Amino acid sequence: MLYDDQNIFARIIRNEIPAIKVYEDDQVLAFMDIMPQAEGHTLVIPKTPAITLLDLPPDAAAYTIQIVQKIAKAMEKALEVKGIVLMQLSGASAGQTVPHVHFHLVPTSLHNLGKHAAQMGDQEKIKALAEKIKAAL
Ligand code: AMP
Repeated sequence: MLYDDQNIFARIIRNEIPAIKVYEDDQVLAFMDIMPQAEGHTLVIPKTPAITLLDLPPDAAAYTIQIVQKIAKAMEKALEVKGIVLMQLSGASAGQTVPHVHFHLVPTSLHNLGKHAAQMGDQEKIKALAEKIKAAL
């Protein structure tokens, strides 16, 4: 499958549509999921155009996971949670809905996960959670 550079995350990377960002550098972006499966649900994406983790060059994958760890640590501190579900769906057959590789960081238990990409969260509440995470980075 060819990478579609009009996918929503590619457009967020190019600042064509807004996102509630918590971290950004030249290679990686982290922002809040608009349909959170738990309070504080955050996404980490490499800026490299790749659909799934399997398409991502290993160096970009290695760097992205370092940022995943950094954000996860900030989430634990900021949100006072003990466990974080890390989820990475590779391929539509696995349930992936946005065709740009991303890691989900969901500060909850696997047994309490909300439905996937199902319901818009309260954007003001999400912004407040993002500020807390940013402050803990
Ligand atoms: P996946 O199904 O693994 O591809 O996950 C895509 C995730 O992106 C879902 O959890 C959606 O809630 C989330 N999502 C979709 N559009 C946006 C957006 N514009 N900003 C932030 N998160 C989004």
